[in-house]
Amino acid sequence: MVKKIFGTFGVRGIFNKELFPETANLLGHALGTYLGKGKKIGIGHDTRVSCDELQVELIKGLISTGCEVYKFGCVGTPLLSFFIPRKNMDGGVMITASHNPKEYNGLKFWNADGSGFRMEQDRELEKIYYSRSFNAVKPKYNKIKTIENLNTEYIQNVKAKIDWEAIKKANFTVVADCGHGCACYITPQLLQALGCNVIPLFNEPDGTFPGRSSEPIEENLSEIKKLVKETSADLGVAQDGDADRAVHIDNEGFYQMGDRSFALACYAFLKNRGGTIVSTVSTGTVVEDAAKLVNARVLYSIVGEPKIVEMMKKNNAEIGGEENGGVIYKGWSYARDGIFTTALILELMAKENKSFKELNEMLPQYEQIKVKIPCPNDKKEILLKKIEEKIPKDQDLITIDGLRINYSDGWLLLRPSGTEPIFRIMAEAKTKQRIQELEEFAKKLVNDTLNNL
Ligand code: MG
Repeated sequence: MVKKIFGTFGVRGIFNKELFPETANLLGHALGTYLGKGKKIGIGHDTRVSCDELQVELIKGLISTGCEVYKFGCVGTPLLSFFIPRKNMDGGVMITASHNPKEYNGLKFWNADGSGFRMEQDRELEKIYYSRSFNAVKPKYNKIKTIENLNTEYIQNVKAKIDWEAIKKANFTVVADCGHGCACYITPQLLQALGCNVIPLFNEPDGTFPGRSSEPIEENLSEIKKLVKETSADLGVAQDGDADRAVHIDNEGFYQMGDRSFALACYAFLKNRGGTIVSTVSTGTVVEDAAKLVNARVLYSIVGEPKIVEMMKKNNAEIGGEENGGVIYKGWSYARDGIFTTALILELMAKENKSFKELNEMLPQYEQIKVKIPCPNDKKEILLKKIEEKIPKDQDLITIDGLRINYSDGWLLLRPSGTEPIFRIMAEAKTKQRIQELEEFAKKLVNDTLNNL
């Protein structure tokens, strides 16, 4: 059976095994048919080796349905989303597999307001894709245009939005680990424009990711941790392949979980005005702690960018994000923007005259665990239902996405994976002893229930 390539956010697969140039061509046809003749589509891509081939075919598909194509170049997802409405595009496509290994690539689809396609839109596109019933016109190659210097234009926009002179005055040294991805073209340049001394790391664009894996999780970030310490830098920033996620290393070389960057971003973005934050069920309590400091409320969403954006729009929320270091800012763009987050955190450090570590110390520390338990796909739903039946009725629960059990001193999330045959356990507590208790309790609960199905 051919593996289904439409996932929860666009299309993704191993290039030339699951995702072919032909797939991109057909997706171009499908998107052009979905949006209609004469529509303007902006296309961005990351540094992966297969991007060129996929882009050529995608463009052929789009112009065959009468669309106009605007090539944004290697710009990173945050920039594609930022410029879609500002360049009056009717939609967009980002060619990227985000943080996945080098063999992968993918296509994500974007609306005219710079938000990613919702799941229902992906399903409609999927239907057109499989129907092979496309609009057809004689392709006009003069309908392909290139927009240049978007990185420079983005930097100007960041400078207009934040107090860059305060950052410049603070004379920060920042290690920027671009992970050979889109960040190579924007993050060191932006930091320099903000007046920082920049120490770049893995800043050669290279889709084979020779320096480190593309996902900015702690096990992949030993080099930046070392370099921040060695150079006595004020901050380290590490990003994924398409630069929508950013995690930070403090001035002592310690990795900080993405939800701490999210929490500090909430504090910086909402200070003196409050507002509404959309977090997810898998994100830490630290976001609520930051919300209290700025008088904001926190709403919980299903995991994943499209769901966060949907909830932000519905509740007119100022900011949304998740624990992997992706944060979305209303009025800026409807995509996670790890580049803007870093600028905001530097502004906060400068204005409060605090190191990143000191900022972090304003917020309580937590212990967190993540555990995977193998579980066949066809048993996930019934397993979740049986587990829920075992939880006392008066327990504080969030059931929008898996099962989040809230305790007075921590929480536990039991959630089937959307893509792999596993059941995930996440937990957070204030002490090591309590997190161990929660881990033992959750493992026993899931395994016992699974064994008795
Ligand atoms: Mg990404």
